[in-house]
This record gives sequence, structure tokens and C-alpha cells, in this order.
Amino acid sequence: MASRANQRVLLRVALVCAAALLCLGGTAGQAVESQSVQPVVAAIFPVASDVRIAGDDKQTRFVLDLDRKIDVRAFTLADPYRVILDVPQVNFQLPAGVGQAGRGLIKAFRYGLVMPGGSRIVFDLTGPAKIEKAYVLDAANGQPSRLVVELATVDKATFKQAMVVQALVVDGKTQLRPSVDEQAKTTVVADAAGAPKGPGGPDLRPVIVIDPGHGGIDNGTVAASGEAEKTLVLDFAKALREHIEKGGKYRVVMTRSDDTFIPLGERVRIARNQKAALFVSIHADALPRGEGDAQGATVYTLSDKASDAEAERLAESENRADAIGGVNLTEEPTDVADILIDLAQRETRTFSNRFARLVVNELKNVARLHKHPLKSAGFKVLKAPDVPSVLVELGYVSNKDDLQQLVSENWRTRTVGSIGQAVEAFFGKRVVSAGSEH
Ligand code: ZN
Repeated sequence: MASRANQRVLLRVALVCAAALLCLGGTAGQAVESQSVQPVVAAIFPVASDVRIAGDDKQTRFVLDLDRKIDVRAFTLADPYRVILDVPQVNFQLPAGVGQAGRGLIKAFRYGLVMPGGSRIVFDLTGPAKIEKAYVLDAANGQPSRLVVELATVDKATFKQAMVVQALVVDGKTQLRPSVDEQAKTTVVADAAGAPKGPGGPDLRPVIVIDPGHGGIDNGTVAASGEAEKTLVLDFAKALREHIEKGGKYRVVMTRSDDTFIPLGERVRIARNQKAALFVSIHADALPRGEGDAQGATVYTLSDKASDAEAERLAESENRADAIGGVNLTEEPTDVADILIDLAQRETRTFSNRFARLVVNELKNVARLHKHPLKSAGFKVLKAPDVPSVLVELGYVSNKDDLQQLVSENWRTRTVGSIGQAVEAFFGKRVVSAGSEH
């Protein structure tokens, strides 16, 4: 029903668009021909069509061609050295692979959506640099609108100084820094408000937070054939949400339900704010080229010391998400006292480990597991001291068979079902043990 109504709306929109085109055609005559019909689609967001980098390791200029003027906020971050450009949502139509190699002070750059209505471009720098200028030029002399950023090399001390100045400006009046965190919080509030309430009272069902890894500007690992981890895990997470919600016993909150970047700390905060009974982070792994082959699913829990070298490598690469998305790592607040963390964590870890074992037990019946399917390492996203948390690596996008499964609906349904079973067993067990202790 809903979809038919949607179709009707779409049809009406299409008709209005067609009518508008006809009007344009009638009044503007020949001008329409040179503009083509495309602007109707393109008009929604500014389009970036090309990019150029010029200069050397002293001074570097970045130029992005746009179909109209936009606002830009530029700032620097350290550890690693980066420049962040926050712009309104942009439709990036840049050549494939662009940004993988930079020039001069820009080692590489990436771009993408960080929140609805907001895009971001992140430069990885070869060393400390300052933003000399960041501006947008009007289209002129046959040239399109251009976003221009000029960088110059500085020493470490000057770089630090510049960062302090940025912070002062934020504390002062207008906020120059991006507030991805704020945005994410708003999303969560909306999610919680929209949650179904039980008849005549608050919703007391256990909350399960499902956390699709990566998103927006952060693609995660990418298969040779182009499938991005962020998309695979979002599809999986949505299927898992649907499966768990169908039973009606749990309330599910997603850390993201679209292609949006969410910092790692924010994902943890969502779990804690929701007083979640369980946090399940969904990822897919890849081995770097030339480092052999590995396959199968692995379930990770938090530990100070990684269970093996591969777990350590993986945690390191997953923890890079914030740096990739342009989050200032030094600003991440630690909002719980260390002593409390220690006490709460012992119990939480027991629950996390129990759930991890349950998932492996269920998964082994329906999916291929890694040869050591239970591992642990220092994943930032698993650090909520009071929420049992696991991270499931569904498989390796670098392995042909795994990738085939990851994109298969049949495999997804089976795997989602087995994690659902593990959830049932986890909460069933908790209830039983609570009862037997009294
Ligand atoms: Zn990942």
C-alpha cells in the first residue's frame, strides 16, 4: 500500500518536472538545447566534476570544479596531519580512483557524505601544513565555479599554534568546526523518540544496538570488484534489524541506517545512552594484497592485548575510521572514571565473551568460519564499559568465495537467522541465571 502511494507521489513529481521542462522549452526555446535536460537532477546538489592539484612540498594548491558556488569551512587536524574541508552535500562526479595519489603536501585525499546535507573532503598531508587560503570562485571566463585551497608547509610548533587558534574561534562565537557528533546525537534522539512504546507505558524491552561499520566518507575495505564494506555491512545490519524486530521482544537501535559517517566514540555513546543490553558491530575484513588468503567469519571481543597478530592488525585498521573521517582524535572525551570502567568491565566482558561464543556456535551451522573464529583485540568501538559488545567480521572481501557469499541474499538470510538465534540464547540464558540465583 505504502509503496503504491509512493509511486503515485513519484509519478506526480515526474509529471510536474515534465511540465516544468515543457514550460522551459516553450519560453527559453534554444537555450534549453544547450543546457540539456540533466540540470533537473543535478539541481538538487552542487556537482563536483573535476579536481586538480598543483605545487610542491612547500606550497600546494587544490582546485575542485563545481557547477555553482558553495560555502566551505576548512581546518587542520594532527595525528595524522590532515586538512578537513566541510561543504554542503555535494554530488561528487570525479574520475574513479582520484585522490589515491596526491601531490606536494597532499599525500592523498578522499571525499564523501558525513551527514545528510553535509559532505567532507579530507587531505592526508605529508607533514604539518597550514591553510593559507580556502575560497570559492565564481564561474568566469569560461571557467566553472572553483573551490580553491592553498596550503603551505610549516613546522610542528606553528601547526600546533594554528590548531589552538581554531579551537578559540569555536569557543568564541560562530562554530567553525564540524559537528558530526552533534548531528549523530540528533539522529539518535529521533530514533529513540520514534521507538514503539508498549501499551500504556514505557518500552522496557532490552535494547540491541546494531552498528554497521564505516559509512559516508569512510568506505571501509573495498573488494577488487568494487563492493565497499560500508554497503555490505549496512545491508546485513538492516536485514538483522528486521529479523530481530519481527520477534517483538527487543528494541533495535541502529548507529546508522544510511550512508553516513559516524565517529567510533559516537557509536559507543549511542549504545551507552540507550542503555543497550547488547551491542553488535558488523564488519567485513580484507587481507592486503600479497599477504596470503584467509576466509570465513570471525567474532571479536575487546581485550587490552590482541589474541594474535592478525587481530591486532585488524583492530588497528578498524580504529583508523575516525582519522579517515576527519575526526579530531585528541578531542574525544573520556566520560567515565577509570575505576568505574574497571569494575563494570569485568562483568561486561564475561557477557561479551558469552555472546561471542553463542554467535560462533550458531554461525558454524550455516556459514564458513575463520580457522580461529573467536578472537580479541583493542577495538575502540567495543569499549562501552557497561554494554556487552562484540564485533562480527562477516568474511573477507579479498577472498572470492567469501565475497560471493557476502553479496548473496541466501547467505545473508541464513547468517542473520543464526545471529538471531544467538541473541535468543543470550537473553534466555541471562533470564535463567538471574532466576536461579534468587
Ligand atoms: Zn570494518
